[in-house]
Amino acid sequence: MDQLRTASWTEKDQGNVWHHISPYVEEKPAMITAKGEGAWLTDHEGNRYMDGMSGLWCVNIGYGREELAQAAFEQMKELCYAPLTQSHLPAIQLAEKINEWLEGEYMIFYSNSGSEANEVAFKISRQYHQQNGNSGRYKFISRHRAYHGSSMGALAATGQALRKYKYEPLASGFLHVAPPDPYRRPNGMTAKEHSNLRAEELEQKIIWEQKETIAAVIMEPLITGGGILIPDKVYIEKVQEICEKYGVLLIIDEVICGFGRTGKKFGHQHFGIKPDIVTMAKGLTSAYLPLSVTAVKKEIFEKFKGTEENVHFRHINTFGGNPSACAVALKNLEIIEAENLVDRSAEKGSFLLKELLPLAETHPNIGDVRGLGMIVGIELVANKQSKEPAPSAFAANIVQACRQEGLIIGKNGDTVDGYNNVLTICPPLSSTDADLMYLIGTLKKVLAENICK
Ligand code: PLP
Repeated sequence: MDQLRTASWTEKDQGNVWHHISPYVEEKPAMITAKGEGAWLTDHEGNRYMDGMSGLWCVNIGYGREELAQAAFEQMKELCYAPLTQSHLPAIQLAEKINEWLEGEYMIFYSNSGSEANEVAFKISRQYHQQNGNSGRYKFISRHRAYHGSSMGALAATGQALRKYKYEPLASGFLHVAPPDPYRRPNGMTAKEHSNLRAEELEQKIIWEQKETIAAVIMEPLITGGGILIPDKVYIEKVQEICEKYGVLLIIDEVICGFGRTGKKFGHQHFGIKPDIVTMAKGLTSAYLPLSVTAVKKEIFEKFKGTEENVHFRHINTFGGNPSACAVALKNLEIIEAENLVDRSAEKGSFLLKELLPLAETHPNIGDVRGLGMIVGIELVANKQSKEPAPSAFAANIVQACRQEGLIIGKNGDTVDGYNNVLTICPPLSSTDADLMYLIGTLKKVLAENICK
């Protein structure tokens, strides 16, 4: 790494690379990552960090897996590219495997990113309704605080005004309802009652918007990037019931929650529902190569079958389902199965949560600690009685202080005004016990040193 030890990398970076969703501050140069192994990253100056965020919630099996590099290499030699207007072997094998994981009958449509997977879900939903004799169904309902991607449709579905308002108007036909937020539920209400109420509000929205105009509801099993908001079990079950009642499709966005992240293969499997459409990306390849999927129930696909003019889905994506990305995804899923990483996520996620939960009692600025599998959120407040959210800058300071101690954690940022106050933890499912102890120890130390008055 010696050839990388030069300050000029920072200069070159600042002069050439426009970073994603980050302010440009010359005095705060970006971390330049040079190597990854297991749950650990090394920057270009040789400093090491435990990656408690799996990159952007995506490197589920950890860094530096040679088997994945090998799978890509072998596939590139064999067949580097074939468009999915026809087919290729890795796409077929992976589609079969995803169906096994979904425990259902789905058709698999490939793209490259979570945003694209959601765009595909929206287009399929509208066309399905048209071809099913319901051409008036064009609206989508999602939740405030949720993130569904950066493209004009996926961003319209997103319920984070701070990410949207500079780019509006976005795609039309997207509506939002409030999500369950058990920590901030009204006094005297149980988490279950609160989730029930939120589901009833969704039903009311469908009715008030005229039920024949609603195409689909999109939601994550739990809101991840928007602040780790975990509903009571009753919520998702009830949402599915409501969607069925009004002929509305249910799209579940598993871009973060899929592939073992929450302690099940897919997040929705905690709730015993069968979504009409499931979108996935990130952990599908553990981010070794870009790939995403829109899995669509076969009964929906039926409406797209046949030689009749214009019934087919008119959507193409040059790179979607690239053979090497599919081969890498297959190997990634094989590793998750061979190393029991879904069960490990459930078990070690509970351990992580148990270790961090007492902070809600002892730290003056920690209002709530919550999690499911290997996702944990720590909600920071300025006042525990009023639950006034802590300033975003306080959360950012903690993230920065962790980084100085060799630990990467995240925070929800640029979501909705005043609520960018949740620390996020999402380590690789393959993190060793020692890695997790390092994460817990470091985070506790940093939190103890940081109090917001
Ligand atoms: N859906 C969810 C829940 C996400 O968290 C993200 C990205 O963070 C997306 C969709 C968009 O995925 P991508 O960044 O791959 O377009």
